[in-house]
Amino acid sequence: MTSSNSENEVKFFSGRTVPLEMHKVKVVQSVNLPVVEDRLKAIKKAGFNTFLLETPDIFLDMLTDSGTNAMSDQQVSKMFIADDAYAGSQSFTRMKQAVLDVFGKEMVLPVHQGRAAENVISQIFVRPSTFVPMNYHFTTTLAHIELRGGKVVELYKPEAMKIKSDHPFKGNIDIERLEELIRKEGREAVSFIRMEASTNLIGGQPFSLANLKEVRKVADRYSLMVVLDASLIGENAYMIKKREEAYHDSDLRSILREMSSLADIVYFSARKVSSSRGGAICTNSKELFEKMKEIVPLYEGFLTYGGISVREIEAIAVGLEETTRENVVNQSPSFIDYMVKEIDRLGMPVVMPGGALGCHIDAMQFLAHVRQEEYPAGALAAAYYIVSGVRGMERGTVSSHRDSEGRDILSDLELLRLAVPRRVFTLSQVEYVIDRLNWLYAHREMIGGLRFVEEPAVLRFFMGRMEAIGDWPEKLALQYRKEFANGL
Ligand SMILES: *Cc1c(COP(=O)(O)O)cnc(C)c1O
Repeated sequence: MTSSNSENEVKFFSGRTVPLEMHKVKVVQSVNLPVVEDRLKAIKKAGFNTFLLETPDIFLDMLTDSGTNAMSDQQVSKMFIADDAYAGSQSFTRMKQAVLDVFGKEMVLPVHQGRAAENVISQIFVRPSTFVPMNYHFTTTLAHIELRGGKVVELYKPEAMKIKSDHPFKGNIDIERLEELIRKEGREAVSFIRMEASTNLIGGQPFSLANLKEVRKVADRYSLMVVLDASLIGENAYMIKKREEAYHDSDLRSILREMSSLADIVYFSARKVSSSRGGAICTNSKELFEKMKEIVPLYEGFLTYGGISVREIEAIAVGLEETTRENVVNQSPSFIDYMVKEIDRLGMPVVMPGGALGCHIDAMQFLAHVRQEEYPAGALAAAYYIVSGVRGMERGTVSSHRDSEGRDILSDLELLRLAVPRRVFTLSQVEYVIDRLNWLYAHREMIGGLRFVEEPAVLRFFMGRMEAIGDWPEKLALQYRKEFANGL
């Protein structure tokens, strides 16, 4: 690897800065762009819930980055030589070596995906009625901690909730409030401190290494354990290099090592880290390892496969190594940065600065005329699909639930997330995404709200069905056909 090859922000003669792809396409999947009337039909059939759309209805799938990143030729080729042993598989030996190289952790427990790691960690370390302070929760993390009777305390700074910000580290934890909590409740009342890299639900926002070092100091002062959710660690490390002055000249490998050295337990979802399946829990503490080891065969599988195929294990090993390479990891953040700046330049409300995993549109401002009880982020996701064929994900009140009196618990933020999985889309596709969003913004007054017609009590955003309040989807589709004569 030469250093000139680790940077993809090549200056154009014209003066523009364009993120260049440092890969070429070898295997492709065809996509389909249905006409606007077919998109309208599809979203109605899906109950205005983008989770219920199917691939033939979708032009660009920006639902999630989970398990949808493109694999490298190295990953795919290694999958062919995987060692199919129930116990003692050499594929696992290679994954262990990769974990040691990248995270500096000697002991590894493979699990079937990120939430399985959370299950194991929560079962062993979350004591009932204790607190688990963290920068911000992830959906599955919260569920597992609460299942054990623990209480999640989010100690983000006010900046984290500000849509348009230039704060480089909105994922930082508030150190003062962390220490205050431990002092007030006592260290016995805290199970562990959790830090999430590239904090997913607030827009893929990173924390700084300075902040993580402070967390470590507090943990040492009170003999507490630090657990690092490393599912999006590559992007966080990349943003540390870009945004934290002390690390401008460091390489990703050393930043990743330093991050993981500050945690007692590092776990990850390989669906994000390496574009395959699976996950792992890593530590250098024999004591912690022995405790967790007990229940892995019960829920996951034997300790050298953890419920995943050896092929996936090979892909994780290569994927981890690739996480140390800047021109691999920066692909998604640099596209997101480009998108966010363009969307902002066009005057649309978008979470800034750009982070990891996707671009997040602020539906509360975009659809200021739609009441939060009528699900502006859900309505925006549906409307955007109608006018683009692009599938995004609602991250707002539809993704929340109701209180005991049946009232919606209104979400802090109402976001339309457009995920940008690694190396999947081209820049012209990104230009299309921005262009159709711009068209929708010019016609935003036409968009109305939604209401539930079928509402599951748990995780309603996955399977719930809604309908439009009024006939705004039909009118929107008609207007689109008027302006784009071929309906595309
Ligand atoms: C995706 C994700 C998880 C859960 O991982 P799964 O593999 O989907 O179970 C946990 N934490 C973070 C930060 C994630 O992004």
